[in-house]
Amino acid sequence: MTYDVIVVGAGPAGSIAAYDCAKQGLKTLLLEKYPLPREKPCGGAVMYRGLRLINEKTPRKLIERRIYGLRFLLPDGRGSEFVSDKLIGITVFRDRFDEFLARRASNAGAELIDNAPVVDASVSPTSAKVQLAGGREFSAKYLLGADGVNSIVSRKLGLRPKRKELNKVGLGMESDFHVGEEGVLEATGGDPSILEVCPVNGRVSYGWVFPKREHLAIGIAGAGVHMRSLRSQFDMFCKCVEKRLGISLNLEKRRAFFLGGDGLGSKNILPRAILIGDAAGFVDPLMGEGIAYAMKSGAFAASVISKAYDEDRYDEDALSEYQDLCRKEFSSNFALATLVGVRGPALAELILPKINGHKLAAKVMTMVARGDIGYADIPFVVLKKLPRELPTIIKHVVKSHLATPN
Ligand SMILES: Cc1cc2nc3c(=O)[nH]c(=O)nc-3n(C[C@H](O)[C@H](O)[C@H](O)COP(=O)(O)OP(=O)(O)OC[C@H]3O[C@@H](n4cnc5c(N)ncnc54)[C@H](O)[C@@H]3O)c2cc1C
Repeated sequence: MTYDVIVVGAGPAGSIAAYDCAKQGLKTLLLEKYPLPREKPCGGAVMYRGLRLINEKTPRKLIERRIYGLRFLLPDGRGSEFVSDKLIGITVFRDRFDEFLARRASNAGAELIDNAPVVDASVSPTSAKVQLAGGREFSAKYLLGADGVNSIVSRKLGLRPKRKELNKVGLGMESDFHVGEEGVLEATGGDPSILEVCPVNGRVSYGWVFPKREHLAIGIAGAGVHMRSLRSQFDMFCKCVEKRLGISLNLEKRRAFFLGGDGLGSKNILPRAILIGDAAGFVDPLMGEGIAYAMKSGAFAASVISKAYDEDRYDEDALSEYQDLCRKEFSSNFALATLVGVRGPALAELILPKINGHKLAAKVMTMVARGDIGYADIPFVVLKKLPRELPTIIKHVVKSHLATPN
């Protein structure tokens, strides 16, 4: 069968790309390895930046919690909390959220085939081809590799090495703990609208406690090279959370998965082919946030392919705008996140307590989460707003100084 576009992988990247391609009138095939809904190890926090791409139209039943704030805990027990009056994200179960995105693509006209593992992919001057386990073959004018961090498309096309480079990817372990609605309220001090990010022993990684309706999503993640004892670190982290929140957690299933990395430092296009989402490596190197970047890169790829299709072009130059769009949109966020990651705990301990609860900090955090600005714009926004905010800042600093015990 011949298509205009084949998208391999129905995660957020692939389903957004397939939706946009189908909407542009391209004959689109979306192939997913597992039967839908399929599981994906994830904290399930989708920032507003990503929701924007679906016009915020997430069905209510998929929204576990609406998120209005972030709390960063420090190793010494201090914390910084930033709360907004604007929505900054939601929590979801990834199996349901991802299935919704895949069906949305299918409703827009993409042909969706699940339970369809791609085992081979190639591009030639005349077409792009994929083969499923079992031998069935499909060809298209363009191929999008959206098959996640273990992408077979990227390796078959020679865009990534056969063995994963642990210094370029992250690794995480997580679980959803059922504690009931009462338990969620108890654990969150009655406010289940805040995402909590916490330090983990050894400081090579971070952890999180994200509220869902009746569950707490708890996990840890960090650079792949530092995560050899992932399971014991995860269990220890859960014990600390139990103690700190005064709740009891019954572990049903630990789930571990790699996180994409080094997307901007790698080549993501070939004639007729583009890698998107985790397959390309578009994950925030500090927080491991990847859903919104996956969605955005999917949208970029669809727009570039649609234009190339109209111009009847298949060469790398025609697709290179994709790299430019991703670089422009993601590079400042990733660069700053890498810098903060390197300076990590020391920087956090220095800055976070000082800006705890500050209105300007909350405003900036909201703008970043909503996608109004990138990380690199923070200094400019702060400087712009500074004159008006100066009296409150001085008051805040004096107040927190007086409150700090010597
Ligand atoms: C423990 C953990 C917690 C995380 N928490 C968060 C979080 O809270 N918020 C956030 O924003 N990000 C989080 N992330 C990152 C986020 O999960 C990813 O960045 C995001 O899922 C990337 O989307 P994607 O569509 O590129 O890839 P995926 O979501 O991985 O989707 C890829 C799809 O391709 C399919 N596939 C794979 N191989 C094949 C094949 N051969 N043939 C056909 N289909 C194939 C897969 O089954 C899958 O459906 C977390 C990651 C981990 C590991």
